[in-house]
Amino acid sequence: MKPLVVITGASSGIGMECAKKFSELGHPLLLLARRINLLDDLNLPNTICRKVDVSCKDSVDASIREAEETYGKTDLIINNAGVMLLGHSLSQDIEEWDQMVDVDLKGVLYGAYAVLKDMAARRHGTIINIGSTAGRKNSPTRAVYNAVKFAVHAFSETLRMELAGSGVRVSVIAPGVVDTELVSHTSSPEIVANYKEMRSHFNGGLKPKDIADAIAYTYNLPQHICIREIVIAHTEQQA
Ligand code: NDP
Repeated sequence: MKPLVVITGASSGIGMECAKKFSELGHPLLLLARRINLLDDLNLPNTICRKVDVSCKDSVDASIREAEETYGKTDLIINNAGVMLLGHSLSQDIEEWDQMVDVDLKGVLYGAYAVLKDMAARRHGTIINIGSTAGRKNSPTRAVYNAVKFAVHAFSETLRMELAGSGVRVSVIAPGVVDTELVSHTSSPEIVANYKEMRSHFNGGLKPKDIADAIAYTYNLPQHICIREIVIAHTEQQA
């Protein structure tokens, strides 16, 4: 059997497409998200689904250790879980800022931390963190979303350098607009409407499968080839 792939935020969008893709490719999976029913509904073979909030370090670690007892050590983790709570800094609740730091940044750190020492000891493994074009370019209503995504890019690049000598790959996949439910958790109806209007100019953006395909390509290269970063967006997306 192929090695274990761990995917956070697999209950919708990009994470769900990654789950389908890596299952098709024959990997056993550990799928994490809060909406466990959506993970179970996928009904994928050789798959463990766990209701885990990625901002809870102990839960992330415990679920990975449990899956590894069944399927062996993790060879790929896709740190994908995230929220994008758009808002103006003069009006946004601080709880929304906290949530983005906890999920989009700390969730990535906890996922990486849970596997990196074993990967380095085995001199094999891949950590793929989902950044964003928002991790490269600023724009209003994204002060904290920009901050956490820039941080994911910064963390990933230094982690890559530190793990280079141990043969472990670290990659960032940075999508532009992708047609998922991501914006739907933003509390301002006006910002959501503006975002959807922007997105409609390029057919909703890329599809989650486009990103899953790029992730699978990155992972399936020989271990000595590390794609450090892919910035991938719809051709007609300007920003
Ligand atoms: P979705 O909203 O479709 O998926 C987000 C996933 O994250 C869901 O499975 C959700 O599961 C999970 N999640 C959210 N909070 C938590 C939490 N506390 N613990 C565990 N899981 C959590 O959005 P996308 O697929 O678009 O987003 C995936 C990643 O891609 C994110 O990191 C996002 O920032 C990034 N991205 C998306 C872009 C886009 O335009 N869509 C562009 C650039 C980057 P549940 O709610 O069940 O917990």
